[in-house]
Amino acid sequence: MTQKVRHWVLVLGDQLGWDSSALSDFDPAHDRLLMIEADSEAGEVWSHQARIALFLSGMRHFANAAHQRQWPCTYMRLDDPQWPATFAERLGHVLTAHPPEALVVMETGAWRMERLIEAAAEQARVPLRWTPDTHALCSRAEFATWAGHKKELRMEFFYRAMRQRHGVLMAGQQPVGGQWNFDAENRKGFGAKGPGDVPAPAQFAPDRVTQDVIALVRTRFGEHPGTLDHFAWPVTREDALVALQHFIDQRLEHFGTWQDAMWTTLPFGWHALVASSLNLHLLSPREVVDAAEQAYHARQLPLASVEGFIRQVLGWREFIRGVYWLDMPQLAEGNHYGHTRDLPGWYWTGKTHMACMQATIGQSLQHGYAHHIQRLMVTGQFAVLAGLSPQQVSAWYRAMYIDAVEWVETPNTLGMALHANGGRFTSKPYVASGQYISRMSNYCKGCRYQPELRTGPNACPMTTLYWDFLIRHEADFASNPRTALMVKHVAKMSAEDKALIGQQADATRDGLEQV
Ligand code: FAD
Ligand code: SF4
Repeated sequence: MTQKVRHWVLVLGDQLGWDSSALSDFDPAHDRLLMIEADSEAGEVWSHQARIALFLSGMRHFANAAHQRQWPCTYMRLDDPQWPATFAERLGHVLTAHPPEALVVMETGAWRMERLIEAAAEQARVPLRWTPDTHALCSRAEFATWAGHKKELRMEFFYRAMRQRHGVLMAGQQPVGGQWNFDAENRKGFGAKGPGDVPAPAQFAPDRVTQDVIALVRTRFGEHPGTLDHFAWPVTREDALVALQHFIDQRLEHFGTWQDAMWTTLPFGWHALVASSLNLHLLSPREVVDAAEQAYHARQLPLASVEGFIRQVLGWREFIRGVYWLDMPQLAEGNHYGHTRDLPGWYWTGKTHMACMQATIGQSLQHGYAHHIQRLMVTGQFAVLAGLSPQQVSAWYRAMYIDAVEWVETPNTLGMALHANGGRFTSKPYVASGQYISRMSNYCKGCRYQPELRTGPNACPMTTLYWDFLIRHEADFASNPRTALMVKHVAKMSAEDKALIGQQADATRDGLEQV
């Protein structure tokens, strides 16, 4: 490269949208794109092979499209020996060898990455220009203003403000249907008859680029968890749009009703499978919300389904992002209960006698996917009940899921699933006994444990640990109106019952690898 570069525009693996604000004044005559694959990022956590493949394939498709537009791009491949090893070294190398007037980067999806980029620019003495993440519907500053000095943040109030501000499902100043939230209609299990026929989600056979990436990942990261045998995720905007439309046409109608239900033979339920495309910026949240709202008006879809879906994207997703940027870096260190136990090995293999964990971890290894309730009320609640280290659990979620990026994984895991930030944005810990799982799934039917038993050889570990948790935190639960009812039963238990539960819980935790 002989010509002086005006701006290096760094495009990260989760910034693959052509509407990125970092590209808004890109001039191919003077500027150059920089895309970096690096082992240090692929292995930042012990990442699922499909997750690595998704990012690499998405980046390579983006670089190919840049090439077609005749936008200059330096693309550093993982296995290209001419470049140094880590992401930071690769970035530093470029900035030092070809110093630009400025390095331009859109706000990233990880606090750690922003510090790393700042350090690299500073070391190379290159001015760094951050551009706002216009992909998000609520900027960091807007969220901070909304949050003000509130000690506790509640999604519901944020969501209502977002509905009003963006005019989504509104009839004037009032919510369509006269109600903001149809959550109570979104909690059905499939019942004894099971889910019936559920249309399959859109699947995408790997093209040449993805096949090459799959071969590379198999060679380089073959020891990592998960399999690539079922890789069918969208890796381009075109495919992501097809996946979205397929969901809107075929699955949105019943999404709301069965949102929380789980079934061994139905890994994707009625879910949208759009999180990875949203998080890589192949889809924008605005177009996803608009597509759902338009379908509601055009096809008179059930409001509870459409509102339930829009709440996830316009409400939860934006709220979680706001919390992440407001509370980092302390959020990642949170450990409200002081839990330190190591993650049992079977979280990485699914080899446990607990059928609910087998199913959830098993499908996660196969597809890099589990839906929200599986993440929250199966693997997540077991982790908190068993006293696992929140930081190890968070690394596991970041590794395991196709849609895992730090800004969305960290608050969901530490804040929502593990209550490790002491309930900053949740009104209670999300814990339940095995009987909840039994109601919401068919897992318990094939399990060697019995969900209703809390002591004895066939006691369900989830149930034992749940009651032990309530006993140990009785005072906390009793003082919170949202959880006081849960411990009413504990107050009536005999000392002997409590001691038996405590003993069984200790034995469960001590024998965690064999459970
Ligand atoms: P659907 O159930 O069809 O929902 C539609 C969309 O709503 C999702 O694609 C997603 O973009 C958004 N959404 C729903 N719930 C949430 C939420 N709680 N937070 C943010 N967005 C939400 N989501 C991620 O995108 N990346 C993660 O790394 C991630 N880690 C999680 C870890 C834990 C412990 C928990 C409990 C949840 C996590 N989630 C994460 C949220 C949620 O489970 C996934 O977004 C969802 O399962 C993705 O599947 P889907 O696209 O089929 O979503
Ligand atoms: Fe899970 Fe307990 Fe049901 Fe077994 S009995 S599947 S461990 S909830």
